[in-house]
Amino acid sequence: MDIIVLKPKTTAKELRHIINKLQSRGFEANVSKGTERTVIGVIGDTSKITEDESNAFTSMPGVEKVHRIIQPYKLASREFKPQNTTIRIGKHTIGGKKLHVMAGPCAVEGMSVLVNIARDVKKAGATFIRGGAFKPRTSPYTFQGLGEEGLKILAEAREQTGMPVVTEIMDPRDMDVLLKYADVVQIGARNMQNFRLLSEVGSHNKPILLKRGLSATIKELLMAAEYIMAQGNNKVILCERGIRTFETAMRNTLDLSAVPLLKKLSHLPVLVDPSHAVGQWDLVAPMAKAAIAAGADALMIEVHSKPEEALSDGEQSLKPHKFKTLMKELKTVARAVGRTI
Ligand code: PEP
Ligand code: MN
Repeated sequence: MDIIVLKPKTTAKELRHIINKLQSRGFEANVSKGTERTVIGVIGDTSKITEDESNAFTSMPGVEKVHRIIQPYKLASREFKPQNTTIRIGKHTIGGKKLHVMAGPCAVEGMSVLVNIARDVKKAGATFIRGGAFKPRTSPYTFQGLGEEGLKILAEAREQTGMPVVTEIMDPRDMDVLLKYADVVQIGARNMQNFRLLSEVGSHNKPILLKRGLSATIKELLMAAEYIMAQGNNKVILCERGIRTFETAMRNTLDLSAVPLLKKLSHLPVLVDPSHAVGQWDLVAPMAKAAIAAGADALMIEVHSKPEEALSDGEQSLKPHKFKTLMKELKTVARAVGRTI
């Protein structure tokens, strides 16, 4: 038993009674009020619930039926919530008909560089500014990010352009400072299974961009989303950013089939990051178009005014004028699949 579907006219008292009973058995209740009916997601190890106990819940006043979810992810599953989740961020909605493009440099390098890039990508049609202040670098000797200084610069770019800020968290100890400056908190691929970090971001209500781990399966990605949602934060955007395969010609292999599969298994919005998938700027545009055709709700694209001087990921960053051309081309693809951009 994982989901309790309530009758359309269940009273608040009956709901309270069901929740109390769940809590007395050591479970938490995640109440989701839909337009037609309310469902309760049962949080905890539901495999311990016997058939008899499950039947006892079925006969409680206000309960229409109890439902077992076969997948190990529950709150993230479409079975739990059939309708698409939309996430409101400022004046934007992710997961609706309108597609969103989050663009900006890999790392925040300085005030004027970032603000200029932000202006350029906004003019081209991007709706979010991205940039890392805490960078997960393979080598400890390379640029690690500007830390809080970088976040302040992002906040200034938001001030000047109106674009919400997307930036990565690497350490639960930075949560307070991230909450101060970020509009969307990114969990990077390397931290997709950092369970303490997932629980931390789950206990606040900031939207989360959850990147697929370098070698993570779809199930593992959805279980990571479940960690966040189990703490009460349902604002999770799933991100396909390429996975490790035997192929070394590209930085990673963009698993585009993950997009329709995630949309089938989950109600959460799906974003594709072609930049980190391909690792070379000239392959970004075709994969960005393909991602929209595959059903992505949003894209994340790295843009730098001087890629050759970028402190990280310059080789995969588009120059602003190339980004502008791409945005124009994306409009046509979006229209072809019934979306706008
Ligand atoms: C990034 O967005 O710059 C980044 C580090 O991404 P990923 O975690 O997907 O490698
Ligand atoms: Mn990067």
